[in-house]
Amino acid sequence: MSEKQGKDGRAKPHVLILGSNFGGLTAARFIREKCKDNVDITVVDRKPYLIFIPNIPLEVFANNDPAANLHMEFYKFLKADKSVFLQAEVKDIDIESKYVSMVPTERPGAAEEMIHYDYLVIALGAKLAYDDLPGFAEYGHAVSDSYYGNKLRRYLFGGQYKGGPIAVGTARFTMGKKGRPDWIPDMTSACEGPPLEISLGLTALLEERKWGTAKNITLFTQGEWIAEDAGVPLVKEFLGMAVDKMGMTYKPNTYDIKEITKDGIEFVNGPSVEAELKIVLPNWKAHDFLKKLPITDEVGFIVTDLNMRNPDYPEIMAVGDCAAITAPKLGGIGDMQARIVAQQIANDLGMIKPSEEMMVFNPVVMCFGDMGHHKAFYIHSNLIYGGKTGIMKMGHKYYDMKMGFKEAYFLTGGKTPGWGVRLTEILGD
Ligand SMILES: Cc1cc2nc3c(=O)[nH]c(=O)nc-3n(C[C@H](O)[C@H](O)[C@H](O)COP(=O)(O)OP(=O)(O)OC[C@H]3O[C@@H](n4cnc5c(N)ncnc54)[C@H](O)[C@@H]3O)c2cc1C
Repeated sequence: MSEKQGKDGRAKPHVLILGSNFGGLTAARFIREKCKDNVDITVVDRKPYLIFIPNIPLEVFANNDPAANLHMEFYKFLKADKSVFLQAEVKDIDIESKYVSMVPTERPGAAEEMIHYDYLVIALGAKLAYDDLPGFAEYGHAVSDSYYGNKLRRYLFGGQYKGGPIAVGTARFTMGKKGRPDWIPDMTSACEGPPLEISLGLTALLEERKWGTAKNITLFTQGEWIAEDAGVPLVKEFLGMAVDKMGMTYKPNTYDIKEITKDGIEFVNGPSVEAELKIVLPNWKAHDFLKKLPITDEVGFIVTDLNMRNPDYPEIMAVGDCAAITAPKLGGIGDMQARIVAQQIANDLGMIKPSEEMMVFNPVVMCFGDMGHHKAFYIHSNLIYGGKTGIMKMGHKYYDMKMGFKEAYFLTGGKTPGWGVRLTEILGD
């Protein structure tokens, strides 16, 4: 009897992973670890490197090129795992016939191809919608990728900044409701740790270069509390330091950014803020081609259960920012989901020992934010989900942990050991 072959002639189940930044790369590495050589793995991304996004602000404020320090070539790790990497732009998913269409991106003019999957892991992140912000291209700045990071670096260190007021904040985030458990509340910002970090890192830079102080900075937010996902008690503690002690201005309840102008930012609610330098994070929006698929919620994020599987198409899983239940949008949450997905596929293949405990999605907000002067803050909290953990600490140790995590990530190719998270909690808390 001939061996059972998959749709494209494969003998083994084909796991197709779309996206290879935090979520996709970690999923690929752990699926290989858990499933050994019982699956074929293909990873698709439009670019052949990972961007270590959380460290962009600190590299920019140290006048280092983030493209030089924070791009990690992942090809060698996938090759060592015997996983295939395809550099291509994902265009569409045919959910019923289990095909993904994509166009190779190494050279323009490539022809569209179709690739079949048995398991599909979607880790395409989100679209950071700067193009929705009128005036951003001319007057706005950002730190979410190397392009914008270097643009801000040229502005700051090339003599363009004249020591005037600075506004830091985010545009409004819209979440869908479909399939979302009650304990994941509506959040008005996708990721609001970065503004806290930017305001502190920038303060250190202003003081060091004698360009100004914390008093130059206005922090703004759509709702009452900035970084509400950390939990209101921690936010109050942060504002006590940044506003009451250091002298920043706090502007809540802006609802959303209306326009970025030469002189500042206009908000949907209330008066504008005057600013020479405007550093913003936009709305995190779902990729357009996902919105029409039956696996997504009202705004295009992928609906999953707590095993990260779509309830109607359980062979489709989502990891990281593209998943509807990833709120806030944090790489650390995507990392947990990548490990869950690896376990799920391994379990389907009978590769999980009876003694191994199956993980389910149980998020915590954990982040390290640079404060300049080789110090960082550490937040470990599940208060937003109704939990009882709410820890915020600051000091040199947390800066070392932040930098150490990046080194561990690059060394292991996105496959940091599970005990690393527990060790972080023990050392951090
Ligand atoms: C300034 C800043 C600081 C942050 N700090 C922290 C922090 O301290 N801690 C933390 O946990 N999180 C932090 N985050 C959030 C974190 O960066 C994201 O949650 C994380 O990057 C999400 O990972 P992901 O793999 O889901 O998506 P992404 O990192 O967005 O990766 C998606 C991948 O998919 C690829 N892709 C997208 N569309 C296509 C397509 N159509 N075809 C082919 N490839 C495609 C992209 O090239 C990319 O490689 C920060 C974010 C910002 C902006």
